[in-house]
Amino acid sequence: MNPLAKKLFKIIQTILRIKFCEECGTTKGLVDCWLFNYETGKEQHWTYCVDCAPKQGFCWACGQFWGGVESFDFGPGYCENCASEIEEEEEYYEEYEEGCYPDEYEEEFEEER
Ligand SMILES: [Zn+2]
Ligand SMILES: [Zn+2]
Repeated sequence: MNPLAKKLFKIIQTILRIKFCEECGTTKGLVDCWLFNYETGKEQHWTYCVDCAPKQGFCWACGQFWGGVESFDFGPGYCENCASEIEEEEEYYEEYEEGCYPDEYEEEFEEER
């Protein structure tokens, strides 16, 4: 996105309180990206979508800046902190898909319905 469009988007965001991805302009799947700026002592914030966040060096899961960290740059788009959580969740879903739940679980589901 060119700098002028970026500025316009920022203005629209503040006026309408609508958030856009600062890179591609989508309003879906947005991540509040942030970086602590040691020079100013303040946190800086950006809004990117889950696709653009990792390209800008931010974890799409928690929004923290990880750019320049090798494991992040060559990783799946989320940081080390989030990796354990996300991978646990994936394992959980895989188990679910495979139907590996013990029988008692399935019975409980039946009763609830
Ligand atoms: Zn985007
Ligand atoms: Zn993260």
